[in-house]
Amino acid sequence: MPRLQPNEIHNRDFDFIIIGGGTAGCVLANRLSSGNKEYTVLVLEAGTVTQQDLLEVQIPLLNGKLKKTDQDWQLKSVQQRNVDDRSIAVPLGKLLGGSSAFNACIYHRCSPSDYDAWNAEGWSYRDLQPYFRKAETFHDEKKVDTSIHGTQGPLHATHISKSTQLGSCFKKACRNYGLNEYRDMTDLTCQIGVTGLDASIYQGHRSSAGSSYLSSEFEAQQSNLFIGLGCKVTRLMVQGNNVVGVEYTNDGKVYTVNTKREVILSAGAILSPFILLASGIGPGSELKEVGVDVKVDLPGVGKNLQNHWRVPLVHETVSSDMSLHDGLFKRAKESLEQAINTRDGTFTELWPDAVAYMKVPNAPDNSSSIENTPQIELFVGGLALCRELPSLKHLDCATLLMVYVTPFSKGTVKLTAEGTPSIDLALLSDERDLECIEKGLKVSMQIADDTEYAKCIKRWIMRPDEDLTEYIKANVDTLHHYAGTCKMGPKEDPLAVVDNRLRVHGVDGLRVVDASFFPIVPAGQICYPVIACAERASDIILEDNKRKLVLIALGIVGFTNHIVFSIVGWIIAFLLVLVEIPLCLKVCPTSPKLDGFIAYFENCYFRAILYLVFAVVMFLSNLLNVGPLIACGVSLLLASICYGIAAFTGQAYASSKILGGTGVDNVV
Ligand SMILES: Cc1cc2nc3c(=O)[nH]c(=O)nc-3n(C[C@H](O)[C@H](O)[C@H](O)COP(=O)(O)OP(=O)(O)OC[C@H]3O[C@@H](n4cnc5c(N)ncnc54)[C@H](O)[C@@H]3O)c2cc1C
Repeated sequence: MPRLQPNEIHNRDFDFIIIGGGTAGCVLANRLSSGNKEYTVLVLEAGTVTQQDLLEVQIPLLNGKLKKTDQDWQLKSVQQRNVDDRSIAVPLGKLLGGSSAFNACIYHRCSPSDYDAWNAEGWSYRDLQPYFRKAETFHDEKKVDTSIHGTQGPLHATHISKSTQLGSCFKKACRNYGLNEYRDMTDLTCQIGVTGLDASIYQGHRSSAGSSYLSSEFEAQQSNLFIGLGCKVTRLMVQGNNVVGVEYTNDGKVYTVNTKREVILSAGAILSPFILLASGIGPGSELKEVGVDVKVDLPGVGKNLQNHWRVPLVHETVSSDMSLHDGLFKRAKESLEQAINTRDGTFTELWPDAVAYMKVPNAPDNSSSIENTPQIELFVGGLALCRELPSLKHLDCATLLMVYVTPFSKGTVKLTAEGTPSIDLALLSDERDLECIEKGLKVSMQIADDTEYAKCIKRWIMRPDEDLTEYIKANVDTLHHYAGTCKMGPKEDPLAVVDNRLRVHGVDGLRVVDASFFPIVPAGQICYPVIACAERASDIILEDNKRKLVLIALGIVGFTNHIVFSIVGWIIAFLLVLVEIPLCLKVCPTSPKLDGFIAYFENCYFRAILYLVFAVVMFLSNLLNVGPLIACGVSLLLASICYGIAAFTGQAYASSKILGGTGVDNVV
């Protein structure tokens, strides 16, 4: 896979340009370039490094060190008025692999009904299940159930069989609460219960979309895949309703690159809508307000922003083996050496030991199924997951992390007049969310207070007393599962941005493939869902382009989506045929009809050349990306010249040799 410097990409043409070499972008790059070796595929990634370059990416529990570095976009929300005007940090991966190279490695398929609730043709769980399996090679110390899990995919995931005291006390407490315990909940219709975890970790290293889909072995095979690191896309180049290329910057210089087929936006749920807005594709009135030319008025761009929210309960543990703090902080040097040299030890682990998926009793329910799917996840693990961590490193701590996965509130991504993204997470803007979080926190405390779990607690460090609301407002934070800002839906849906083939409504040659197209954020961890959906999207794109080749061959659409041109071409061709048939019959009135046709075409071979030239001009104009009107004009001009020659020569030839002059005067 050739790596290109930003200046080497300038002005070149590629079949597909993928904006963002993140989670979805890496999947697309792999599948599109290997799906058809004739296609040239370019990935433009703003980050400058890959997983191979950084230990902090390879070793799972070093990921915290990536925040607030060059590998983080370091974005922030606008002040959230329902949580004491706090502005909330929005960390996002800025490197090859994107947020999959930056995240906490929790690997989860979410609930089947989460996908069915999208109500989009081709995107039910039944449609996606083969893609979940296609993506993964699943590892389990017990036998892998191949009816559920894949064994041939690029992404390595492992069933974590931690049998810690913290985890087992928690599971017992959850069982006392009434939850069933499962070894593996993947694929179950009902996702309520307590279980262990799966991780996108294999042999002590992170398995990101970058390291798995764009591995060095793959790199060596793909001469048609090009990657430009350090290329920050600033806008799409839009001609009429057609995306013809992309503008990007590096080191203060502005470059452009052209597409022969499609641009695919995979910059994530915050930055994909931002790029659309900066390109003039979005809500017309909002764009005008910030001085951007409206290319396509698409009201849904940047709306429908969804996320998951977490609230921690932190305690000191009764023994050091219940906490990761010993390995991570007190003996950090030895553990890190262990992680590097033997690929095991504390740094190579997942932080939680177990998770419970639950309903919140007597609370408004926004889940995809009132019976089957959770409203909250309750993780337990030996880490103080709170802002106070720096002052708690010397203690042995654990957290019960309550994650609210079915919020009602919806935020927005907008463009400011300064050209930056304005992210409003709309946290607790719907009051039902506060009710659910409060009641969910009560359930979490009930489990924590169970005698089985109480055995693990030395003392509480963070736990609400009387005032739940104040505690939530002070401590609620994001779990970074942003989705929904380029919603998939039919054209009639005022918030829909892409159709179910992920094509942007009203724009040709542009798709969005990343967490932004999810109409509803799945109620769980969303990295693996993004990967499976990008797998499906790759098949859709390959299929549509194969179909398009047939249509191009038939002259129904053009290479560059010049549908107007193609339609005009078809009308001309149709008129020519209309003219041909009566003329032909007129030329040969006394012959049987078939002989008449043959005689006619045998003697008007210039006509055949005329049609050929017409077809070639249509094809070339399309290929060379000439605008529809110019292309039509040129083809008509050439067609008329050829027609003139055909008429003159055909008449002379036919009059003298075969038809003795009957009617041929009228041929053209
Ligand atoms: C800190 C953190 C922890 C998380 N933990 C988990 C977890 O444990 N489990 C889980 O399932 N999910 C987790 N997630 C969520 C999950 O990782 C993301 O939802 C998912 O990876 C998003 O994939 P994406 O393809 O939509 O975007 P991304 O993977 O973010 O990819 C977007 C890519 O586009 C690039 N880009 C953006 N703008 C431009 C531009 N203008 N020009 C060029 N390139 C650009 C970015 O640099 C990035 O590489 C976590 C997320 C974060 C941030």
